[in-house]
Amino acid sequence: MIPNSKNKIVLTKRSKVVSNKTMTWIERLYLPAIFQGMAITLSHFFKKEVTIQYPEVQRPVSDIYRGLHVLKRDDLGRERCTACGLCALSCPAEAITMIAAERKEDEMHLYREEKYASLYEINMLRCIFCGNCETACPKEAIFLTERFVPSQTKRDKFIYGKDVLVEPKDAPIDISKRQTPEVLAFKKDKTQSHNK
Ligand code: SF4
Ligand code: SF4
Repeated sequence: MIPNSKNKIVLTKRSKVVSNKTMTWIERLYLPAIFQGMAITLSHFFKKEVTIQYPEVQRPVSDIYRGLHVLKRDDLGRERCTACGLCALSCPAEAITMIAAERKEDEMHLYREEKYASLYEINMLRCIFCGNCETACPKEAIFLTERFVPSQTKRDKFIYGKDVLVEPKDAPIDISKRQTPEVLAFKKDKTQSHNK
């Protein structure tokens, strides 16, 4: 706020004092004002466009853009999430809900750990894409990706379950660009139990 000459507080330097002076006959024609307006409109035709034809055209985003989450599988196609709950605990928006279940003998090929998430949901209306869940996860099971969350007309469509979040077996989501060279080098070491 800027104090003006009369010690009044004004909110901007661009404020104008409105005058009630009588208009001249040219001003009363409104034509100069119309041409002035048209000139401003025309000048925008020659400026660089700031808009794009989304969703047909999408802006390139950073490799570490924080968009739609993915629940990763391991090299054998098993779900990495062990339903430890750390992501939900670290989520400031309380957007994550899960139910843990115990892996059965015949489910070894489905889940990496003996505990897994039978239900895992993220409420995308609550999510602020802070990335805390990704940072908190000890199993490298959840990552944010450069994919966008599409708009919807129904609120319940924003509750994303495992059917959307878990990566398809035949189309894995590459998250290697999000990881530092040190992490990638560590992951190559198969003697570490974390990488088996
Ligand atoms: S990105 Fe942040 S707000 Fe969204 S689910 Fe993860 S922790 Fe919660
Ligand atoms: S995504 Fe990671 S932090 Fe969240 S429950 Fe699964 S293993 Fe735990």
